[in-house]
Amino acid sequence: QQVVLEVKNLKKYFPIKEGVFKRTKNYVRAVNDISFEVREQETFSLVGESGCGKSTTGRSILRLLEPTEGEVYYNGINLLEYSKKDFRKVRKDLQLIFQDPYSSLNPRMTVKNLLLEPLLTHRIYNKKEAEQKVLSIAEKVGLTKEQIHRHPHEFSGGQRQRISIARAMILNPKLIILDEAVSALDVSIQAQILNLLIELQRDLKLTYIFISHDLNVVKHVSDRVGVMYLGQMVEMAATENLYQKPMHPYTQSLLSAIPSHDPTVKKERIVLQGDVPDPSNPPSGCPFRLRCPQAHERCKVEKPAFVEREPNHWLACHLYD
Ligand code: SF4
Ligand code: MG
Repeated sequence: QQVVLEVKNLKKYFPIKEGVFKRTKNYVRAVNDISFEVREQETFSLVGESGCGKSTTGRSILRLLEPTEGEVYYNGINLLEYSKKDFRKVRKDLQLIFQDPYSSLNPRMTVKNLLLEPLLTHRIYNKKEAEQKVLSIAEKVGLTKEQIHRHPHEFSGGQRQRISIARAMILNPKLIILDEAVSALDVSIQAQILNLLIELQRDLKLTYIFISHDLNVVKHVSDRVGVMYLGQMVEMAATENLYQKPMHPYTQSLLSAIPSHDPTVKKERIVLQGDVPDPSNPPSGCPFRLRCPQAHERCKVEKPAFVEREPNHWLACHLYD
């Protein structure tokens, strides 16, 4: 498979002022040097507890937040080197869907106008073509002809997410970043929306970056998964591989918390001590060491490199040296 997006050494630091007189400058290292690839028509997921840098990664790729450092290649060209103006042209290929569709949909506009708006801004279609496009995309996401004359507040949460999916899809994007896109929905509605996303991916040949803290959902939709902790990637592998044979102690603890549907499999829950450290004051050595049940001397002094331990299975942990 071809690589669509390549993220290289991405960093996003937010400056903060500290000390009594707020003269000392420090940084929240929200995304701290991560690298990964996304391949054509796959679903690559980013998982981890809230605050681990998943959303900041997604937003930095789309330059909704300007990255501090790094490179993001889309079809071989570094997105971060585009001028704002040229970036806008590429940006229609890259869309974002997030958790709360209500906040992203203008309440005063009808669904039809919400869907027309991106088409008319980019001036790809004339009015008549644009209206046809609206009808066809509305149908694709399961909205009826008469529903498109209503306003967002007249819809349920699940239906509103269908509207924002339609809005993201209408410019024929190549890659969509889904940031907790189903997390706010009831489980039964979640399944419907996930199935819709899978169907659209197949029909429209889309590539997804799926950001979620829900490991059950991630297992269901992903081809590959990257696990983040404290702004860094700690493990990355094909979904099956990761779920069957997690190697990083953090991944092992996350997976041990998912209830098993097979009653013959007895899982031992690995409960982590303490909280995620302050990202403006990360520990020395391994970022996970303060909570790691297997931390040892070396973890204090040496930060483990992120390396390919087995084919397509990347890991940052000293245990496997
Ligand atoms: Fe745990 Fe050490 Fe591995 Fe970090 S490097 S995950 S502290 S064993
Ligand atoms: Mg988030």
